[in-house]
Amino acid sequence: MKSRTRVAPSPTGDPHVGTAYMALFSYCYAKKTGGEFILRIEDTDQERSTSASEAKILESLRWLGLDWDEGPDVEGPHGPYRQSERSDIYGGYAEALIEKGHAFRCFCTRERLDEVRAAQMKAGETTRYDGHCLGLSEDEVALKMAAGESSVVRMKVPEEGVCVVKDVLRGDIEIAWSQIDMQVLLKADGLPTYHLAVVVDDHLMEVTDIIRGEEWINSAPKHMLLFDYFGWDMPRLIHMPLLRNPDKSKLSKRKNPTSIGYYRDMGFLPEALLNYLGMLGWSMPDGEEKFTLQNMIDNFDIERISLGAPVFDVEKLKWLNGRWLRETLSEDDFADRLSEWAYNRDNLKRIIPLVKERVDVFTELAPMITFFAEGMPELTEDDFKIKKQEPDDVKKTLQFILWRFEVHQDWRAESLNELLGKLAEAMDIKIRDLLAPLFIAISGKPVSPPLFDSMAVLGSDICRARIRHALDVLGGVSKKQSKRLEKEYRELD
Ligand code: GLU
Repeated sequence: MKSRTRVAPSPTGDPHVGTAYMALFSYCYAKKTGGEFILRIEDTDQERSTSASEAKILESLRWLGLDWDEGPDVEGPHGPYRQSERSDIYGGYAEALIEKGHAFRCFCTRERLDEVRAAQMKAGETTRYDGHCLGLSEDEVALKMAAGESSVVRMKVPEEGVCVVKDVLRGDIEIAWSQIDMQVLLKADGLPTYHLAVVVDDHLMEVTDIIRGEEWINSAPKHMLLFDYFGWDMPRLIHMPLLRNPDKSKLSKRKNPTSIGYYRDMGFLPEALLNYLGMLGWSMPDGEEKFTLQNMIDNFDIERISLGAPVFDVEKLKWLNGRWLRETLSEDDFADRLSEWAYNRDNLKRIIPLVKERVDVFTELAPMITFFAEGMPELTEDDFKIKKQEPDDVKKTLQFILWRFEVHQDWRAESLNELLGKLAEAMDIKIRDLLAPLFIAISGKPVSPPLFDSMAVLGSDICRARIRHALDVLGGVSKKQSKRLEKEYRELD
Protein backbone atom coordinates (compact mmCIF):
# COMPACT_ATOMS: atom_id res chain seq x y z
CA MET A 1 0.00 0.00 0.00
CA LYS A 2 1.21 3.46 -0.85
CA SER A 3 1.73 5.62 2.17
CA ARG A 4 1.31 9.34 2.46
CA THR A 5 3.44 10.92 5.13
CA ARG A 6 4.03 14.46 6.22
CA VAL A 7 6.38 16.60 8.18
CA ALA A 8 4.59 19.42 9.95
CA PRO A 9 7.02 21.97 11.37
CA SER A 10 5.95 25.07 13.23
CA PRO A 11 7.82 28.08 11.83
CA THR A 12 8.87 29.52 15.15
CA GLY A 13 12.64 29.56 15.00
CA ASP A 14 15.59 28.14 13.13
CA PRO A 15 15.05 24.94 11.15
CA HIS A 16 15.93 22.25 13.67
CA VAL A 17 17.89 19.08 12.88
CA GLY A 18 15.04 17.25 14.64
CA THR A 19 12.70 18.44 11.89
CA ALA A 20 15.10 17.13 9.28
CA TYR A 21 15.21 13.82 11.17
CA MET A 22 11.40 13.45 11.10
CA ALA A 23 11.31 14.61 7.49
CA LEU A 24 13.94 12.06 6.48
CA PHE A 25 12.11 9.10 7.98
CA SER A 26 8.76 10.31 6.66
CA TYR A 27 10.30 10.80 3.23
CA CYS A 28 11.88 7.35 3.11
CA TYR A 29 8.71 5.67 4.31
CA ALA A 30 6.60 7.34 1.62
CA LYS A 31 9.13 6.79 -1.16
CA LYS A 32 9.66 3.15 -0.30
CA THR A 33 5.98 2.53 -1.01
CA GLY A 34 5.81 4.83 -4.05
CA GLY A 35 3.66 7.24 -2.04
CA GLU A 36 3.84 10.96 -1.34
CA PHE A 37 5.64 13.10 1.18
CA ILE A 38 3.92 16.33 2.25
CA LEU A 39 5.27 19.47 3.89
CA ARG A 40 2.67 21.24 6.00
CA ILE A 41 3.40 24.46 7.84
CA GLU A 42 1.76 24.48 11.26
CA ASP A 43 1.58 28.17 12.00
CA THR A 44 -1.46 28.28 14.26
CA ASP A 45 0.62 30.01 16.92
CA GLN A 46 0.36 33.41 15.35
CA GLU A 47 2.49 35.19 17.89
CA ARG A 48 5.52 32.98 17.45
CA SER A 49 5.27 31.99 13.78
CA THR A 50 7.20 34.04 11.24
CA SER A 51 7.49 33.90 7.49
CA ALA A 52 11.28 34.28 7.81
CA SER A 53 11.39 31.04 9.80
CA GLU A 54 9.15 29.30 7.28
CA ALA A 55 11.40 30.40 4.42
CA LYS A 56 14.43 29.01 6.25
CA ILE A 57 12.68 25.68 6.87
CA LEU A 58 11.82 25.30 3.20
CA GLU A 59 15.31 26.31 2.15
CA SER A 60 17.07 23.92 4.51
CA LEU A 61 14.90 20.89 3.75
CA ARG A 62 15.49 21.56 0.05
CA TRP A 63 19.21 21.87 0.67
CA LEU A 64 19.07 18.42 2.23
CA GLY A 65 17.33 17.07 -0.85
CA LEU A 66 14.11 16.11 0.93
CA ASP A 67 11.81 17.42 -1.77
CA TRP A 68 8.14 17.31 -0.94
CA ASP A 69 5.43 16.27 -3.38
CA GLU A 70 2.91 18.65 -1.87
CA GLY A 71 3.58 21.73 0.20
CA PRO A 72 3.12 25.47 0.47
CA ASP A 73 5.26 26.32 -2.56
CA VAL A 74 4.43 23.38 -4.84
CA GLU A 75 0.73 23.06 -3.98
CA GLY A 76 -1.21 19.87 -4.68
CA PRO A 77 -4.74 18.52 -4.47
CA HIS A 78 -5.15 19.07 -0.72
CA GLY A 79 -3.92 22.63 -0.32
CA PRO A 80 -3.43 25.12 1.05
CA TYR A 81 -0.56 23.58 3.01
CA ARG A 82 -0.11 26.42 5.44
CA GLN A 83 -2.53 26.22 8.36
CA SER A 84 -2.92 29.99 8.61
CA GLU A 85 -4.46 29.85 5.11
CA ARG A 86 -6.85 27.13 6.19
CA SER A 87 -8.25 28.99 9.19
CA ASP A 88 -11.82 29.01 7.85
CA ILE A 89 -11.85 25.20 7.63
CA TYR A 90 -11.53 24.31 11.29
CA GLY A 91 -14.42 26.19 12.93
CA GLY A 92 -17.02 24.04 11.16
CA TYR A 93 -15.40 20.87 12.47
CA ALA A 94 -15.41 22.20 16.02
CA GLU A 95 -19.11 23.11 15.64
CA ALA A 96 -19.87 19.64 14.30
CA LEU A 97 -18.31 18.13 17.42
CA ILE A 98 -20.45 20.39 19.65
CA GLU A 99 -23.54 19.32 17.75
CA LYS A 100 -22.69 15.65 18.18
CA GLY A 101 -22.10 16.23 21.90
CA HIS A 102 -18.35 15.55 21.72
CA ALA A 103 -17.26 19.08 22.52
CA PHE A 104 -18.56 22.05 24.49
CA ARG A 105 -18.15 25.79 24.86
CA CYS A 106 -16.12 26.91 27.84
CA PHE A 107 -16.40 30.45 29.20
CA CYS A 108 -13.94 30.14 32.06
CA THR A 109 -11.65 33.11 32.57
CA ARG A 110 -7.88 32.86 32.72
CA GLU A 111 -8.01 33.75 36.42
CA ARG A 112 -10.39 30.90 37.18
CA LEU A 113 -8.29 28.42 35.22
CA ASP A 114 -5.17 29.59 37.04
CA GLU A 115 -6.88 29.08 40.40
CA VAL A 116 -8.00 25.57 39.49
CA ARG A 117 -4.52 24.75 38.31
CA ALA A 118 -2.88 26.08 41.45
CA ALA A 119 -5.29 24.08 43.64
CA GLN A 120 -4.62 20.89 41.67
CA MET A 121 -0.89 21.40 41.89
CA LYS A 122 -1.15 21.95 45.62
CA ALA A 123 -3.10 18.71 45.97
CA GLY A 124 -0.51 16.89 43.86
CA GLU A 125 -3.08 16.09 41.13
CA THR A 126 -2.65 16.10 37.35
CA THR A 127 -3.44 19.63 36.23
CA ARG A 128 -6.40 19.60 33.88
CA TYR A 129 -9.65 21.39 33.17
CA ASP A 130 -12.18 20.62 35.90
CA GLY A 131 -15.26 20.41 33.67
CA HIS A 132 -16.83 23.59 35.05
CA CYS A 133 -18.67 24.50 31.80
CA LEU A 134 -19.47 20.94 30.84
CA GLY A 135 -22.97 21.13 32.32
CA LEU A 136 -24.08 24.42 30.71
CA SER A 137 -27.40 24.03 28.90
CA GLU A 138 -27.83 25.11 25.30
CA ASP A 139 -29.85 28.12 26.47
CA GLU A 140 -27.20 29.18 28.95
CA VAL A 141 -24.55 28.95 26.24
CA ALA A 142 -26.72 30.92 23.82
CA LEU A 143 -27.27 33.65 26.41
CA LYS A 144 -23.59 33.97 27.18
CA MET A 145 -22.73 34.06 23.50
CA ALA A 146 -25.37 36.72 22.85
CA ALA A 147 -23.91 38.76 25.70
CA GLY A 148 -20.58 38.63 23.88
CA GLU A 149 -18.76 36.54 26.50
CA SER A 150 -15.51 35.17 25.22
CA SER A 151 -15.36 31.37 24.90
CA VAL A 152 -13.30 28.47 23.60
CA VAL A 153 -14.35 25.03 22.39
CA ARG A 154 -13.07 22.07 24.41
CA MET A 155 -13.27 18.38 23.58
CA LYS A 156 -14.96 15.93 25.91
CA VAL A 157 -12.85 13.11 27.27
CA PRO A 158 -13.96 9.85 28.90
CA GLU A 159 -13.80 10.00 32.67
CA GLU A 160 -12.63 6.47 33.19
CA GLY A 161 -10.70 3.69 31.56
CA VAL A 162 -7.56 3.67 29.49
CA CYS A 163 -6.75 4.64 25.95
CA VAL A 164 -4.59 2.17 24.06
CA VAL A 165 -2.32 4.03 21.68
CA LYS A 166 -1.13 1.73 18.95
CA ASP A 167 2.34 2.66 17.88
CA VAL A 168 3.93 0.78 15.00
CA LEU A 169 7.30 0.72 16.76
CA ARG A 170 6.30 0.60 20.39
CA GLY A 171 3.24 -1.62 20.31
CA ASP A 172 0.33 -0.81 22.62
CA ILE A 173 0.82 2.09 25.01
CA GLU A 174 -1.81 2.42 27.71
CA ILE A 175 -2.66 5.90 28.93
CA ALA A 176 -5.40 6.48 31.51
CA TRP A 177 -8.12 8.87 30.33
CA SER A 178 -7.88 10.56 33.71
CA GLN A 179 -4.50 11.91 32.56
CA ILE A 180 -5.97 13.49 29.44
CA ASP A 181 -7.15 17.07 29.51
CA MET A 182 -10.35 18.39 27.97
CA GLN A 183 -8.23 20.02 25.35
CA VAL A 184 -9.10 23.39 23.86
CA LEU A 185 -9.78 22.81 20.17
CA LEU A 186 -10.82 26.26 19.07
CA LYS A 187 -9.42 29.37 20.71
CA ALA A 188 -11.43 32.46 21.62
CA ASP A 189 -10.30 34.12 18.39
CA GLY A 190 -11.83 31.27 16.38
CA LEU A 191 -8.46 29.81 15.40
CA PRO A 192 -7.73 26.13 16.02
CA THR A 193 -5.17 24.75 18.42
CA TYR A 194 -2.54 22.33 17.16
CA HIS A 195 -4.66 19.36 18.27
CA LEU A 196 -7.71 20.18 16.16
CA ALA A 197 -5.73 21.41 13.16
CA VAL A 198 -3.42 18.39 13.08
CA VAL A 199 -6.32 15.92 13.11
CA VAL A 200 -8.43 17.75 10.53
CA ASP A 201 -5.45 18.27 8.24
CA ASP A 202 -4.05 14.77 8.53
CA HIS A 203 -7.48 13.51 7.55
CA LEU A 204 -8.14 15.97 4.72
CA MET A 205 -4.62 15.50 3.37
CA GLU A 206 -5.14 11.73 3.46
CA VAL A 207 -2.08 11.10 5.57
CA THR A 208 -1.74 7.37 6.20
CA ASP A 209 1.30 7.33 8.49
CA ILE A 210 2.22 9.94 11.07
CA ILE A 211 5.91 9.90 11.93
CA ARG A 212 6.76 12.34 14.69
CA GLY A 213 8.76 12.75 17.88
CA GLU A 214 8.03 10.76 21.02
CA GLU A 215 7.10 13.97 22.84
CA TRP A 216 3.73 13.67 21.10
CA ILE A 217 2.83 10.25 22.55
CA ASN A 218 0.79 11.83 25.34
CA SER A 219 -1.22 13.79 22.79
CA ALA A 220 -2.08 10.69 20.79
CA PRO A 221 -5.18 9.80 22.90
CA LYS A 222 -6.69 13.21 22.12
CA HIS A 223 -6.03 12.74 18.43
CA MET A 224 -7.36 9.18 18.41
CA LEU A 225 -10.49 10.32 20.18
CA LEU A 226 -11.02 13.14 17.68
CA PHE A 227 -10.58 10.77 14.73
CA ASP A 228 -13.13 8.54 16.40
CA TYR A 229 -15.60 11.41 17.08
CA PHE A 230 -15.40 12.45 13.44
CA GLY A 231 -15.77 8.84 12.28
CA TRP A 232 -12.50 8.95 10.33
CA ASP A 233 -9.83 6.27 9.95
CA MET A 234 -6.89 6.82 12.26
CA PRO A 235 -3.52 7.00 10.47
CA ARG A 236 -0.78 4.69 11.74
CA LEU A 237 1.40 6.25 14.42
CA ILE A 238 5.16 6.04 14.60
CA HIS A 239 6.79 7.96 17.43
CA MET A 240 10.50 8.34 16.84
CA PRO A 241 12.92 8.62 19.76
CA LEU A 242 14.11 12.17 20.38
CA LEU A 243 17.60 13.26 19.44
CA ARG A 244 19.81 13.76 22.50
CA ASN A 245 22.83 15.76 23.58
CA PRO A 246 25.87 13.64 24.49
CA ASP A 247 24.77 13.88 28.16
CA LYS A 248 21.47 12.22 27.08
CA SER A 249 19.35 15.32 27.71
CA LYS A 250 17.02 16.41 24.90
CA LEU A 251 19.02 17.97 22.05
CA SER A 252 19.19 21.66 22.81
CA LYS A 253 20.98 24.63 21.37
CA ARG A 254 22.53 25.39 24.74
CA LYS A 255 24.66 22.28 24.35
CA ASN A 256 24.82 21.60 20.62
CA PRO A 257 24.18 23.56 17.46
CA THR A 258 20.68 22.48 16.39
CA SER A 259 20.04 24.63 13.35
CA ILE A 260 20.34 22.93 9.96
CA GLY A 261 21.76 26.20 8.62
CA TYR A 262 24.66 25.95 11.03
CA TYR A 263 25.76 22.64 9.54
CA ARG A 264 25.42 24.01 6.01
CA ASP A 265 27.42 27.14 6.84
CA MET A 266 30.07 25.13 8.67
CA GLY A 267 30.72 23.24 5.44
CA PHE A 268 28.99 19.92 6.04
CA LEU A 269 27.61 18.16 2.99
CA PRO A 270 23.85 17.67 2.88
CA GLU A 271 24.38 13.99 1.99
CA ALA A 272 26.50 13.49 5.09
CA LEU A 273 24.04 15.22 7.40
CA LEU A 274 21.18 13.13 6.00
CA ASN A 275 23.28 9.99 6.25
CA TYR A 276 24.08 10.82 9.85
CA LEU A 277 20.46 11.51 10.78
CA GLY A 278 19.51 8.25 9.10
CA MET A 279 22.19 6.42 11.03
CA LEU A 280 20.89 7.78 14.32
CA GLY A 281 17.62 5.95 14.05
CA TRP A 282 18.18 3.20 11.58
CA SER A 283 20.80 0.86 10.15
CA MET A 284 21.48 -0.71 6.78
CA PRO A 285 20.93 -4.48 6.72
CA ASP A 286 24.66 -4.98 6.06
CA GLY A 287 25.65 -2.59 8.85
CA GLU A 288 27.36 -0.15 6.47
CA GLU A 289 27.37 3.26 8.09
CA LYS A 290 27.84 5.33 4.98
CA PHE A 291 24.75 5.28 2.79
CA THR A 292 22.91 7.54 0.36
CA LEU A 293 19.32 8.66 0.60
CA GLN A 294 18.49 6.26 -2.22
CA ASN A 295 20.21 3.38 -0.37
CA MET A 296 18.09 4.22 2.63
CA ILE A 297 14.86 4.28 0.62
CA ASP A 298 15.67 1.02 -1.15
CA ASN A 299 16.38 -0.78 2.10
CA PHE A 300 13.88 1.04 4.24
CA ASP A 301 12.06 -1.09 6.72
CA ILE A 302 10.25 0.55 9.58
CA GLU A 303 11.09 -2.43 11.79
CA ARG A 304 14.75 -1.48 11.59
CA ILE A 305 14.17 1.80 13.39
CA SER A 306 15.89 1.65 16.73
CA LEU A 307 14.17 2.99 19.83
CA GLY A 308 17.39 3.63 21.74
CA ALA A 309 18.08 7.26 22.65
CA PRO A 310 20.02 8.60 19.64
CA VAL A 311 22.89 10.87 20.62
CA PHE A 312 23.65 13.64 18.16
CA ASP A 313 27.41 13.67 18.25
CA VAL A 314 28.97 16.41 16.13
CA GLU A 315 32.35 14.63 16.14
CA LYS A 316 30.81 11.50 14.63
CA LEU A 317 29.01 13.61 12.05
CA LYS A 318 32.33 15.24 11.20
CA TRP A 319 33.93 11.85 10.77
CA LEU A 320 31.15 10.78 8.41
CA ASN A 321 31.36 14.03 6.49
CA GLY A 322 35.09 13.40 6.05
CA ARG A 323 34.33 10.03 4.54
CA TRP A 324 31.89 11.61 2.09
CA LEU A 325 34.45 14.23 1.09
CA ARG A 326 37.27 11.76 0.62
CA GLU A 327 35.50 8.70 -0.70
CA THR A 328 32.68 10.08 -2.79
CA LEU A 329 33.60 13.43 -4.27
CA SER A 330 35.89 13.52 -7.28
CA GLU A 331 38.24 16.50 -7.38
CA ASP A 332 35.88 18.17 -9.80
CA ASP A 333 32.91 17.60 -7.50
CA PHE A 334 34.97 18.80 -4.57
CA ALA A 335 35.75 22.05 -6.36
CA ASP A 336 32.09 22.49 -7.32
CA ARG A 337 30.91 21.91 -3.80
CA LEU A 338 33.48 24.24 -2.33
CA SER A 339 32.46 26.98 -4.65
CA GLU A 340 28.76 26.34 -4.04
CA TRP A 341 29.46 26.59 -0.34
CA ALA A 342 31.42 29.84 0.12
CA TYR A 343 34.01 30.34 -2.56
CA ASN A 344 31.65 31.67 -5.14
CA ARG A 345 31.27 34.94 -7.00
CA ASP A 346 28.20 36.08 -5.10
CA ASN A 347 29.89 35.65 -1.79
CA LEU A 348 33.09 37.33 -2.95
CA LYS A 349 31.04 40.23 -4.25
CA ARG A 350 29.64 40.73 -0.77
CA ILE A 351 33.06 40.55 0.84
CA ILE A 352 35.09 42.68 -1.61
CA PRO A 353 33.48 46.03 -0.73
CA LEU A 354 34.42 45.39 2.89
CA VAL A 355 38.14 44.92 2.21
CA LYS A 356 38.84 46.65 -1.08
CA GLU A 357 40.03 49.89 0.47
CA ARG A 358 42.61 48.14 2.60
CA VAL A 359 44.64 46.14 0.07
CA ASP A 360 47.24 46.97 -2.52
CA VAL A 361 47.86 43.42 -3.75
CA PHE A 362 45.78 40.26 -3.61
CA THR A 363 48.15 38.53 -1.20
CA GLU A 364 47.12 40.99 1.45
CA LEU A 365 43.56 39.87 1.06
CA ALA A 366 43.86 36.29 2.24
CA PRO A 367 44.52 36.92 5.94
CA MET A 368 41.75 39.50 6.00
CA ILE A 369 39.11 37.22 4.73
CA THR A 370 39.96 33.87 6.26
CA PHE A 371 37.49 34.53 9.04
CA PHE A 372 34.65 34.47 6.52
CA ALA A 373 35.30 30.82 5.87
CA GLU A 374 36.73 29.51 9.09
CA GLY A 375 34.46 27.81 11.58
CA MET A 376 35.24 28.92 15.10
CA PRO A 377 38.16 31.37 15.46
CA GLU A 378 41.01 30.30 17.70
CA LEU A 379 40.53 32.18 20.92
CA THR A 380 41.86 32.15 24.44
CA GLU A 381 40.56 33.77 27.59
CA ASP A 382 43.31 36.38 27.29
CA ASP A 383 41.87 37.61 24.01
CA PHE A 384 38.91 38.90 25.99
CA LYS A 385 40.95 41.03 28.37
CA ILE A 386 39.28 44.31 27.58
CA LYS A 387 40.18 47.57 29.25
CA LYS A 388 37.88 48.45 32.13
CA GLN A 389 35.70 45.37 31.63
CA GLU A 390 35.51 42.64 34.25
CA PRO A 391 35.46 39.06 32.89
CA ASP A 392 31.91 38.65 34.23
CA ASP A 393 30.77 41.77 32.38
CA VAL A 394 32.26 40.44 29.16
CA LYS A 395 30.34 37.21 29.62
CA LYS A 396 27.17 39.07 30.42
CA THR A 397 27.46 41.24 27.34
CA LEU A 398 28.04 38.24 25.07
CA GLN A 399 25.18 36.31 26.64
CA PHE A 400 22.75 39.24 26.28
CA ILE A 401 23.76 39.73 22.65
CA LEU A 402 23.27 36.02 22.04
CA TRP A 403 19.77 36.09 23.52
CA ARG A 404 18.91 39.07 21.33
CA PHE A 405 20.30 37.27 18.28
CA GLU A 406 18.36 34.11 19.00
CA VAL A 407 15.09 35.87 18.31
CA HIS A 408 16.26 38.40 15.74
CA GLN A 409 15.45 37.42 12.17
CA ASP A 410 16.59 40.38 10.13
CA TRP A 411 20.27 39.78 9.55
CA ARG A 412 21.10 42.86 7.52
CA ALA A 413 23.90 45.12 8.75
CA GLU A 414 21.65 48.13 9.46
CA SER A 415 19.22 46.04 11.42
CA LEU A 416 22.01 44.51 13.53
CA ASN A 417 23.39 47.95 14.15
CA GLU A 418 20.04 49.18 15.36
CA LEU A 419 19.42 46.10 17.51
CA LEU A 420 22.74 46.38 19.31
CA GLY A 421 22.40 50.15 19.69
CA LYS A 422 19.16 49.57 21.54
CA LEU A 423 20.66 46.82 23.64
CA ALA A 424 23.54 49.08 24.73
CA GLU A 425 21.00 51.71 25.66
CA ALA A 426 18.92 49.22 27.63
CA MET A 427 22.04 47.99 29.43
CA ASP A 428 23.12 51.56 30.00
CA ILE A 429 26.59 51.03 28.56
CA LYS A 430 28.46 52.61 25.69
CA ILE A 431 28.00 50.92 22.33
CA ARG A 432 31.79 50.74 22.07
CA ASP A 433 31.92 48.65 25.24
CA LEU A 434 29.14 46.38 24.05
CA LEU A 435 30.82 45.78 20.71
CA ALA A 436 34.34 45.15 22.00
CA PRO A 437 33.79 41.51 23.11
CA LEU A 438 31.50 40.82 20.16
CA PHE A 439 34.18 41.96 17.77
CA ILE A 440 36.65 39.49 19.25
CA ALA A 441 34.10 36.66 19.35
CA ILE A 442 33.16 37.12 15.71
CA SER A 443 36.45 38.03 14.07
CA GLY A 444 38.93 36.46 16.47
CA LYS A 445 41.35 39.23 15.58
CA PRO A 446 42.14 42.73 16.75
CA VAL A 447 41.47 44.08 13.26
CA SER A 448 38.85 42.93 10.79
CA PRO A 449 36.52 44.29 8.14
CA PRO A 450 33.50 46.25 9.43
CA LEU A 451 31.69 44.17 12.02
CA PHE A 452 28.02 44.45 11.04
CA ASP A 453 28.67 43.95 7.35
CA SER A 454 30.85 40.97 8.13
CA MET A 455 28.17 39.47 10.33
CA ALA A 456 25.63 39.92 7.56
CA VAL A 457 27.90 37.88 5.25
CA LEU A 458 28.63 35.24 7.89
CA GLY A 459 24.95 34.69 8.61
CA SER A 460 23.10 34.24 11.86
CA ASP A 461 24.00 30.61 12.50
CA ILE A 462 27.76 31.10 12.38
CA CYS A 463 27.63 34.37 14.33
CA ARG A 464 25.62 32.81 17.12
CA ALA A 465 27.86 29.76 17.17
CA ARG A 466 30.92 32.01 17.47
CA ILE A 467 29.39 33.84 20.41
CA ARG A 468 28.61 30.51 22.08
CA HIS A 469 32.15 29.40 21.36
CA ALA A 470 33.49 32.60 22.94
CA LEU A 471 31.38 31.98 26.04
CA ASP A 472 32.82 28.46 26.22
CA VAL A 473 36.33 29.81 25.93
CA LEU A 474 35.47 32.09 28.84
CA GLY A 475 34.57 29.08 30.93
CA GLY A 476 30.91 28.77 29.92
CA VAL A 477 27.83 30.05 31.68
CA SER A 478 26.74 27.81 34.53
CA LYS A 479 23.06 27.12 35.17
CA LYS A 480 23.21 29.36 38.22
CA GLN A 481 24.87 32.21 36.34
CA SER A 482 22.41 31.80 33.52
CA LYS A 483 19.44 32.09 35.92
CA ARG A 484 20.85 35.29 37.38
CA LEU A 485 21.58 36.73 33.94
CA GLU A 486 18.15 35.76 32.66
CA LYS A 487 16.55 37.72 35.47
CA GLU A 488 18.66 40.75 34.71
CA TYR A 489 17.98 40.35 30.99
CA ARG A 490 14.22 40.25 31.50
CA GLU A 491 14.39 43.44 33.47
CA LEU A 492 16.00 45.28 30.54
CA ASP A 493 12.76 45.68 28.62
N1 GLU B 1 3.76 21.15 14.54
C1 GLU B 1 4.22 20.05 15.33
C2 GLU B 1 5.70 20.29 15.63
O1 GLU B 1 6.16 21.37 15.45
C3 GLU B 1 4.04 18.76 14.57
C4 GLU B 1 3.78 17.57 15.43
C5 GLU B 1 3.24 16.43 14.58
O2 GLU B 1 4.00 15.94 13.73
O3 GLU B 1 2.09 16.06 14.75
O4 GLU B 1 6.43 19.48 16.10
